[in-house]
This record gives sequence, C-alpha cells and structure tokens, in this order.
Amino acid sequence: MTVRTRFAPSPTGFLHIGGARTALFSWAYARKHAGEFVLRIEDTDVARSTPEAVQAILDGMNWLGLSWDEGPFYQMQRMDQYKRVIQQLLDEGKAYLCYCSREELDAMREQQMQEGKKPRYDGRWRPEAGKSLPAVPAGVDPVVRFKNPLTGNVVWDDLVKGQISIANEELDDLIIARGDGTPTYNFCVVVDDWEMGITQVIRGDDHVNNTPRQINLLQALGAQIPQYAHLSMILGDDGQKLSKRHGAVSVMQYHEDGYLPEAVLNYLARLGWSHGDDEIFSMAQFCEWFGLDHVTPSAAQFNTEKLNWLNNHYIKQADLARLAEDIAQRLALAGVQVHEGVDLQGVIALYRDRAQTLNQLADSVAYFYRKPEVDAAAQEKHITADIVPVMHALFAVLEGLEWTQDNLHHAIEQAVTANALKFPKVAMPLRVMITGGAQSPSIDAVMTLLGKSESLARMQAILRA
Ligand code: GLU
Repeated sequence: MTVRTRFAPSPTGFLHIGGARTALFSWAYARKHAGEFVLRIEDTDVARSTPEAVQAILDGMNWLGLSWDEGPFYQMQRMDQYKRVIQQLLDEGKAYLCYCSREELDAMREQQMQEGKKPRYDGRWRPEAGKSLPAVPAGVDPVVRFKNPLTGNVVWDDLVKGQISIANEELDDLIIARGDGTPTYNFCVVVDDWEMGITQVIRGDDHVNNTPRQINLLQALGAQIPQYAHLSMILGDDGQKLSKRHGAVSVMQYHEDGYLPEAVLNYLARLGWSHGDDEIFSMAQFCEWFGLDHVTPSAAQFNTEKLNWLNNHYIKQADLARLAEDIAQRLALAGVQVHEGVDLQGVIALYRDRAQTLNQLADSVAYFYRKPEVDAAAQEKHITADIVPVMHALFAVLEGLEWTQDNLHHAIEQAVTANALKFPKVAMPLRVMITGGAQSPSIDAVMTLLGKSESLARMQAILRA
C-alpha cells in the first residue's frame, strides 16, 4: 500500500514553527517511503479563516521547499461530500437527529455538575430498540449526532506515544452536523482522511483527544483506520510555552530575519527527532533517515543559539551568487543600492564566516556601498595626532599604487616599519577611515574590494577634516 500522509493546517493564523515541523515530518515520512504527501487546508472555521493565512501557509511551505503531491484541497469546497456522508450515516442508522435546544443542554450540564458527574450529552435523542423518543419540538433545527459505541475501548498504537486506550464511556455522541447542516470539524477530518486515503496521520498532540472519536467514525464508515503519530509540543528557549520571541511567529518571519530555509529545516528536523549525534544534514539525508520511532514523545525545546549556529553553517556553505542576490535585496530594503564597482560576492566571501543571519551579513557589508558613519570614539582612539603624518605619507604612496591586495599589504607594512610602529598602529586608523569602525577583516582585503578611488576618498575625508 502506498504511504500517504497529509498536512492539514487551519488557516486561522500564520504557519508557525510547530506547524512547520509537523509539515516537515509528514513530508519526510512520505518521501522516505516513496509515498505521497497531501496538503489540505482546513478552512471550515469561516469566522477565523482568512485568505492571507492560506497564502502564508503556501508561502511558508514553498519557502521551505516542502512540496506536496496533491492539493491544496480546501474543505470549504468539499461540503457536498461531507453532507453526502452525513446522510449516509443517517440512512444507516449510525447517526441521528437531536432536537435539544441550547437551554436544555445547559440544564443537562448544570444538573450533571451538581451531581458531581462529568458533563456530557445524555443520549436522550439516541434511538434504541424499545426506547421512545421525545416529541419533535416545533421550530428547532436538529443537529446530527454520531452514535458512538457505548462500551469498550478505542485503542491505537500511536507511532510516537505508544499505545493509547480510551473508554467509549468517556465519549459522548459527537455532533457531526450543526443545525444549519454544516459539518463539524472532527467529521470533516475523518471524511477527508478516509477519502484521501491517508495511511499515517502525523499531527500535533493537541489532537490526541480527537483521535478516539475519529477512529469510531472511521469504523462506522467501514474505512481503513490510518496509523496515528502525535508529535509533542515545542517549548520556548525558557522551557515555557512558545512565545513570540522564539518560534511562535510566522515561518516567513525567519526569512525576513535572515535565516536560510535549509538552516530552518535542519533545525526543525532535530526538534524532537534525532539520528545519533548528527546535527548537520541535508534534507535528502533526513528523508533517508527519518522514522517516527526516533521521535521523542516528550516536549522539544526551542534553542535560538542552535538555530543561529546552523544558519551560520549554511551561510558559510551557500552558493555566493545566491547569497549576493539575497543580500542585494536586503540592502535595497535598507536603502542601500549595490553597484558593480564593488564585487558583492567578494565582499560576502570576506564577511560570511562571522554572520549568524543574512541580516547581520547585509548590515556588516553595507559600508561598501554607502559612506560609513565614522564612530567618533574609534576615531579619537585610533586617529591620534602622532599618526596623522604617517597616514598622509601612506596616502601619497597609495595614490601611486597599482591596486592589488599584495601591493596594499606591502604598502601598509612599509609604513609600519619605516616608522618603527606596531602593525595595528597603522591598520587601526586606516580601518576607522575606511569602514567607520574599529572592526573588520584584514584591511588590505577590504580596501582591495572597495577600490582605489573610494578608499582614497574615505581616507581623504578624514585627513582633510
Ligand atoms: N487543522 C488542524 C490544525 O491546524 C489539524 C488537524 C489534523 O491534523 O488532523 O490544528
């Protein structure tokens, strides 16, 4: 049987880190087993679903490269299917109409609470042999309830959590259609998982409580029961519920913040799953290794430092042309236009080892394309009165120099030895003049990339002031 998994987000918010990990694991499971991965948008909560949220899901999936083989299917476009199956269950006597009003249900709940019982629907409209049902009240649109088995247990071997068993006594007769005929959440999921031939349902463990109800419904429909895998939640850096500071933001926010998709994917893969001590691996490798048996049932903890470490790793590895395109866009957003006079790929090569994010990288190379603001403290510290004449002399040498890194290095060395100075005594003021600050990679490399006329102009601007 072909493995078929699905990702079934509700478009009521952005696609966040938890959702993305669920998508990744479902996708990887399908890829590992040469199966199919279905994308389904669960948009029946019309009050909370938005087209923007749908778009954010599609954007997030595309950015991460989690390609789907079928879909996206939209539940709102499948209403006829659900209604047909509801009718089928009614016809087969597996579901029934319930005319309880809201007030009646409230009273029922109230009384049960008073008696110290768990509130649940008492089955008063459930047809049973020999039982007479109440008279149908006028003016009430009935809901449809599923005849849940009264006894026995629902048992499944959760592929992450192990065996789970829930007594049917705990479950009351689920409403599968509201008074206006619209199907309810659990019912749509069941019909879809069934009709879409889903073999493994991989989802967040906030759905564990839905599973026994869904299994009972599937059984009533004569459907093959899929395997279930419930993924534990993801906690924030601080062990608390994921907050906006870490993870509870849109996946696309990571793009904006300067993370590479391969870093986010690699990071997500290790959130609750492991393969020995392997930390860095490609998605091809992940799909080959992935199995639910190595997914931990305990909560995973978000770790920004590790994400940054991985991002730095992938920035160091990335194709320079790709990075250049990305960095140029980020710089443009910051109002800095990249021009051909300074080789952006060369600049990136010089800086990327230190960058944890692409935004940091863009930030650190911006001075190549716009005049830096000179840090006053650095200027005061390094461009001292005694060094200014040395700088003037160096300037004169540089003016006549053929602009290569070797020549530059040599010229700086000469200024150092001629004046019996230590190397930083010359390199630091130069750095401040060229970059605006006291930190940069080797200054001859920086000046080579920046070019002769701009380097000299920056020196002059300070020496003349
Ligand atoms: N739509 C549900 C959610 O976004 C997931 C349902 C499921 O995976 O069964 O939480």
